[in-house]
Amino acid sequence: PLILGIETSCDETGVGIVRGHTLLADAVASSVAEHARFGGVVPEVASRAHLEAIVPTMRRALDDAGVTLADIDAIAVTAGPGLAGALLVGVAAAKGYALAAEKPVYGVNHLAAHVAVDTLEHGPLPEPAIALLVSGGHSSLLQVDDLATGVIPLGATIDDAAGEAFDKVARLLGLPFPGGPPIDREARAGDAGAIAFPRGLTAPKDLVAHRFDFSFSGLKTAVARWVEAKQRAGEPVPVADVAASFQEAVCDVLTRKAIDACRDRGIETMVIGGGVAANSRLRAMAEERAAKYGITVRVPRPKLCTDNGAMVAALGSHLVASGVAPSRLDLPADSAMPLTVVSV
Ligand code: ATP
Ligand code: MG
Ligand code: FE
Repeated sequence: PLILGIETSCDETGVGIVRGHTLLADAVASSVAEHARFGGVVPEVASRAHLEAIVPTMRRALDDAGVTLADIDAIAVTAGPGLAGALLVGVAAAKGYALAAEKPVYGVNHLAAHVAVDTLEHGPLPEPAIALLVSGGHSSLLQVDDLATGVIPLGATIDDAAGEAFDKVARLLGLPFPGGPPIDREARAGDAGAIAFPRGLTAPKDLVAHRFDFSFSGLKTAVARWVEAKQRAGEPVPVADVAASFQEAVCDVLTRKAIDACRDRGIETMVIGGGVAANSRLRAMAEERAAKYGITVRVPRPKLCTDNGAMVAALGSHLVASGVAPSRLDLPADSAMPLTVVSV
């Protein structure tokens, strides 16, 4: 079946089209430049940008795939979690197109879609798998027994998300928003061992109560203190070394805990999803460390890690193939949709 996916949960308007596990189109319009001067996504600005971009992005995806709306078998749309006003634009558009073309519509979970997108790169996900979900708003470890019906949360961040930490640290280093890509770039010229930044929730007592949880706010504060001390001393801030050392601390904890989860559960497949999965150090470190335990790491190409419509189409395609019933045409957008709900 031919599945179209619509994504508008944050600042990317995405429309993707897939057939089975094959990606046919991935059109993305981003309003990120409009938010950059605010240092974060402004909800009202994002909603208006989605309104302007949704129809042209839809048209572009259909053109790229060489199909028409009539050829589409089902429409999937991000129903949550995300910004309420932003989600509404995508959900309303999906309903409109579904009604006009008489197609079923699937309201899906954005976070499950970040996991499902890997199937477009590497084919069906072996289940069970451990998913490390690291994005701008979330950082979780999940056990995926059946991606169509539910995921089991093993742990999550108790404060900032990993992507949020990248964005905040970039800001205090004077790097542009979103901070992940420039830190990734700067870190290549830096020494990852230059500064020993803290690894959150890795002390023996934390490994009892928070074995699969994360914490990045202490790390962010430690970086801020270190940078301030340099500035107070009138010394130049070695941006590349700070970026590399910070990135190393984040990736160390993420990969350590994800591998621990695989070993604890006897699971041999790890999939990484979400915007931070685009990080070059995280990808390399996960592969290197997992190989020692015979664990296979699956990470999609960077463009599929950040928000897009193809990930929504990929999850929709999996739901259709699994025989999951479509949503009602009055499906709601749910800004706080729980991680355990794959589709509504
Ligand atoms: P959520 O998926 O939790 O709703 P979101 O959709 O806003 O949040 P994504 O688009 O999945 O988040 O990811 C964006 C985040 O990914 C940003 O915080 C950004 O800094 C981070 N990011 C993007 N590329 C990289 C990279 N190369 N290294 C580290 N972080 C990155
Ligand atoms: Mg974004
Ligand atoms: Fe996302």
